[in-house]
Amino acid sequence: SIPLGYFGGIGGAAKRGIFVKGSTFLDALNTVKTVVFDKTGTLTKGVFKVVQIVPINGFSKSGLLQLAAKVELHSNHPIAQSIRDAYGENIEVSQVRDYEEIAGYGIRAKVENRIVLAGSDRLLHKEKIAHDICQIEGTVVHLAVDHIYAGYIVIADELKEDAKQAIQALKQMGVEKTVMLTGDNQAIASRIAQQIGIDSYQAELLPEEKVSAIEKILSTASKHSKVAFIGDGINDAPVIARADIGMAMGGLGSDAAIETADIVIMTDAPSKVAEAIQIARKTHKIVW
Ligand code: ADP
Ligand code: MG
Repeated sequence: SIPLGYFGGIGGAAKRGIFVKGSTFLDALNTVKTVVFDKTGTLTKGVFKVVQIVPINGFSKSGLLQLAAKVELHSNHPIAQSIRDAYGENIEVSQVRDYEEIAGYGIRAKVENRIVLAGSDRLLHKEKIAHDICQIEGTVVHLAVDHIYAGYIVIADELKEDAKQAIQALKQMGVEKTVMLTGDNQAIASRIAQQIGIDSYQAELLPEEKVSAIEKILSTASKHSKVAFIGDGINDAPVIARADIGMAMGGLGSDAAIETADIVIMTDAPSKVAEAIQIARKTHKIVW
């Protein structure tokens, strides 16, 4: 039978917006020594704003934005939402054909009979589209039209209010390692890591590379210490499944992420990870 103390632990966690799907996860949390975070939507708000539009090869700013908004018409990614918001006009669905979302890279679609690409540096690289590598402090969406580089749009996201505190609290509790994994570029990852004091980060990861990254972290962790991962995203569910303790953001999170997670943080606050560990430790003292 399940010791009564667990019910107290699970109930207490629920009252604080932490939904624990079973007592085994409380036990596992008790020995967490490594906490791995996704970036977008987990440490940052996941609400982007367009801050700069840089057209080249004859495009105008408004022309480039319009093209970007159209190619992003069907994407659920927060990047796509920010570009559609900045454009602000209605888009005829019939203008966008052959839509294809390439996870971790971006979008390809036919817009008014031109092949348009929108996405990361890596997407253009993969498609062999020549462009200057730009070192920009921000998330960048590159655009290409009929295989010719058309410029880029810089978008910015904000840290969540408690992102720094979330890392500090874990360190104070004796968590040995904090890590950030992101598909976003090196420049932005390095700045955020510095701002919040996270121990290490890996950037420009494709969804499957996030899975290998967590596997590597799991294999180097000592036998008796557990690894927790917390994410929100469309692409995070496989990483959540792989970690010893998979955690998802309940509000921002995709359905797949929430379903796969062992623990769901209803308030989307990263500092709840430390709170969950604290509850697990208290529960452990009561049960044993
Ligand atoms: P994160 O790990 O930060 O949650 P993703 O894996 O979702 O990021 O995406 C990684 C990168 O792929 C983004 O930073 C962006 O450059 C590109 N990308 C993904 N989806 C889109 C999209 N809909 N439009 C443009 N670029 C995209
Ligand atoms: Mg994400």
